[in-house]
Amino acid sequence: MARPVLMWFRDDYRISDNPALHEAVKSGAPILCFVVLDQELPGLRQPGGAARWWLHGSLQSLGHSLEGLDSRLALFHGSTEEIVERIVIATDASAIFWNRRYQEAEIAIDSALKTRLTNRGVDVRSFNGKLLNEPWEIANKSGKPFQIYTPYFRAVMTRGGPQTPLPAPSKLKAGHWPDSLHGAEVTLASLHLEPLEPNWAKGFPAIWKRGEAGAQDSLAAFIDRALHGYAENRERPGIEGTSRLSPHLRFGEISPRQIWHTVTSASAALGGVTGDVEKFLSEVIWREFCYQQLFYNPDLATRSHDSRFAQFHWSTNAANLEAWQRGTTGYPIVDAGMRQLWQTGWMHNRVRMIVASFLVKHLLLDWRDGEAWFWDTLVDADPANNPFGWQWVAGCGLDAAPYYRIFNPVTQGEKFDETGDYVRAFVPEIGRLPNAFIHKPWEASPEILDKAGVRLGVTYPKPIVDHAAARERALHAFQEVRHAK
Ligand SMILES: Cc1cc2nc3c(=O)[nH]c(=O)nc-3n(C[C@H](O)[C@H](O)[C@H](O)COP(=O)(O)OP(=O)(O)OC[C@H]3O[C@@H](n4cnc5c(N)ncnc54)[C@H](O)[C@@H]3O)c2cc1C
Repeated sequence: MARPVLMWFRDDYRISDNPALHEAVKSGAPILCFVVLDQELPGLRQPGGAARWWLHGSLQSLGHSLEGLDSRLALFHGSTEEIVERIVIATDASAIFWNRRYQEAEIAIDSALKTRLTNRGVDVRSFNGKLLNEPWEIANKSGKPFQIYTPYFRAVMTRGGPQTPLPAPSKLKAGHWPDSLHGAEVTLASLHLEPLEPNWAKGFPAIWKRGEAGAQDSLAAFIDRALHGYAENRERPGIEGTSRLSPHLRFGEISPRQIWHTVTSASAALGGVTGDVEKFLSEVIWREFCYQQLFYNPDLATRSHDSRFAQFHWSTNAANLEAWQRGTTGYPIVDAGMRQLWQTGWMHNRVRMIVASFLVKHLLLDWRDGEAWFWDTLVDADPANNPFGWQWVAGCGLDAAPYYRIFNPVTQGEKFDETGDYVRAFVPEIGRLPNAFIHKPWEASPEILDKAGVRLGVTYPKPIVDHAAARERALHAFQEVRHAK
């Protein structure tokens, strides 16, 4: 029997446009597919609760896809280095293929394994399955990574579109898993990735279809329903104006190359949506920019990029943090966002910016507290996009929002959720208020509140901070940082 090739899946849970899998198939050898869940790898950020829920579905779906190709997915749990070496030895594999990953601890372990396995005579090959461009491929004239998004975006566009996505294999040459490894394999159920009691994710399956087929459905639905008008509608949380592809991208159920090619071909067919397509691709490229930052700044989630922020006196008010987390701040757009997050595992981008600004600027709470809550509750919680987004809003990140930009939650609500549909969907207790007061219930007269069945401070909270006062306090605090050395 020919020696097998190992295909190691890691956050690239798809069979189409998967470069490592494609090369494994091309080798003509029998293929053994596996995943390792390592919960002890030092320095590696473990997925939060909502991401674990997603991961369960991703692995289940990939397993089914592989079974359809006469193969299967073997799951292992424990120390990555030990398990991968053990698999290589036990299977007598001639080669191991994987797609690259970008967190520092992951890079370190992959490099160490590459050296050790190569020294054993194993052919180790890694590919780009996650990004349009590798972080080191896009550089400024001095060969350094861009610090500003716009020139980065231009540099990506100048390179032209990515290569055509690779087809899904129609069959995998089945390999044989040796008996010696059977005892080491684990079942998906034994990993307890989904919550049991309390099952806070019980509403998620009605909203999300995890896995590669779900990713393709979301892309098709987006093109049908929302690509036309995306540039404008993407700012409106009350409508489905964006793709909701983020958790699928996070777990590699779809590749950015597939998105790029499908969207640009659809654009030709739809006609007249060039501006919408460009805007959409520019968002996909923001993700690339975030990954470049993560690659060059591995401590993105723990250290403010602007070192002056090391001296910032963050508040430690636990009651305010809890009100923000629970969606009981008394500011309807903030509360709607935080409840959308809890109920669906996702939040609209505009609202992510509003709630993040509220936490950091109105409450002066540390951006890392907000980032950690998002990390635990978002199904798309991403090691690059999430800390980057938080640092951007806090004003301490690369090419970040200026310190004096303090979103007014009332005017933001009135501008982007004009009819209050979004707030009504997630804050039903104030849903009967007229549009004029849906974003500022405290300005409604006692008669109007009464008629809408709202008792401020009883059925819905009064604002936990006064906007004008909080704004002044934030400006003062952020100005001090600006002058710090
Ligand atoms: C504080 C904060 C935290 C965030 N945390 C995450 C996170 O953990 N995971 C995550 O995927 N995104 C995060 N984002 C970025 C953005 O909010 C989401 O990617 C977007 O809302 C996902 O919805 P969508 O797929 O419908 O987006 P679409 O508008 O359809 O965009 C398509 C894709 O482009 C990428 N993208 C869009 N906007 C951004 C952006 N601002 N930055 C980076 N990539 C972007 C995403 O991969 C997205 O799926 C965060 C933004 C902020 C302000």
